Amino acid sequence: MELDLIVKGGTVVTGNDIYRADVGVAGGKVVALGVDLGTAPRIVNAGAKYVLPGAIDVHTHFEMPFMGTYTADDFRTGTAAAAGGITTVVDWAIQEPGESLFTTLEKWDKKAAGKTVIDYSFHVVLTDLSRNALDEIKDVVANGIGSFKCFMAYKGTPLMQTDSNLFRIMRRVRDAGALFCVHAENGDIIDVLIREYVAQGKLAPIFHADTRPPEVEAEATARAIALAEIARCPLLMVHLSAKEALQKVREARDRGLPIHAETCPHYLSLHYEELERPDFEGAKFVCSPPLRRRDNTPHLWSGLREENLQEISSDHCAFNWKAQKELGRDSFANIPNGMAGIETMIPVVFSEGVRGGRLSLNQFVRLTSTNSARLFGLYPEKGTIASARSTRLAASISASMRWHASVSRRSSARTGTSEARTRAHRAARPYLTRFCSIAGIERESVVTTAKRPAIKLAM
Ligand SMILES: [Zn+2]
Repeated sequence: MELDLIVKGGTVVTGNDIYRADVGVAGGKVVALGVDLGTAPRIVNAGAKYVLPGAIDVHTHFEMPFMGTYTADDFRTGTAAAAGGITTVVDWAIQEPGESLFTTLEKWDKKAAGKTVIDYSFHVVLTDLSRNALDEIKDVVANGIGSFKCFMAYKGTPLMQTDSNLFRIMRRVRDAGALFCVHAENGDIIDVLIREYVAQGKLAPIFHADTRPPEVEAEATARAIALAEIARCPLLMVHLSAKEALQKVREARDRGLPIHAETCPHYLSLHYEELERPDFEGAKFVCSPPLRRRDNTPHLWSGLREENLQEISSDHCAFNWKAQKELGRDSFANIPNGMAGIETMIPVVFSEGVRGGRLSLNQFVRLTSTNSARLFGLYPEKGTIASARSTRLAASISASMRWHASVSRRSSARTGTSEARTRAHRAARPYLTRFCSIAGIERESVVTTAKRPAIKLAM
């Protein structure tokens, strides 16, 4: 086969293996691995670099209406910013009340069409079951969208769902063979706390965190798990932040339940005290769940190593400080919740995780690529580089390897150690074919991932 590109001399890293090999690409897919692959019009000399599968960010919010404004990045600027190693994004399309789920997807497809510079797909956030949204779930899945989300927080907005709605949706998602995701914070309790704080004149950004303590995340996490167990529905907790919530996930997984969880780079690298920055600068760090105390972070790294947290995504939800975060100058309750993260995710996780001695290279690949591909139906087209032992398989495996991390072995840990670059790649297919089929078997294989013992590392 004629190759378009050979990446020569690099070290290929997948979720399980590390080996020296040249990588041959044709038609945008990895088709050959080995030595002596011949020649190609384009040869990239990887030298001492690692060749990794492209990272997959399954949690973004581009051009999303929220808290009286829109997120600052659209699909063009957001995916351009992903040029830190991410080659695929899955964005949350949010149903407007009364809207058909297909209308929601068409709206999001319009936002993305012609703008994205990497591969993309969508999940659907359900907000309103008054029309036939429940019946549409199976049709949406049949059209290639295999994941749904609801919010248990944001009381007083259409986002927050009752337990009965969550349960009804979970059963339909289960029947459709899809994955249910949840933003787990107890919105009722947060609402009470916000009202009390505002009434007491506690209005600064730090009180955003104080009105969303770890226990409200843990309670909602436990409740979501209980509902999912009754509904027999696979569940993924998005942006898990608190060790108390992680413990609920760990207990459920120890019982063999198909419960999964994600965390985000800001919970691994930033802490509560950022919200105390003077002159309203703390508003830049307002996100939900909020940044936690410093002693919380080692628990998240342990969760990642055990793979009780299976994937890392950015929850990229960017707002400008001027004009947007400033909507909450008078009260933290009005600060748009969200932080940027897509551009820095891979450098931060690589630096803090791999270079910081907290993750192995294989774990890094699993947590940023392989596991997301499996959970969200993208595997094995994405999430791995086929091993040299299965070259026949490789013929049908697409290249998600567009990122070459250049690792300076001379640098000390936790300084900037990775250079990343991506080739601009326009998504060529519409979203309906963007997902490969929902592979229940692959999902199971994540469920049963053998647990590795937690390694205790000093932070
Ligand atoms: Zn989010």
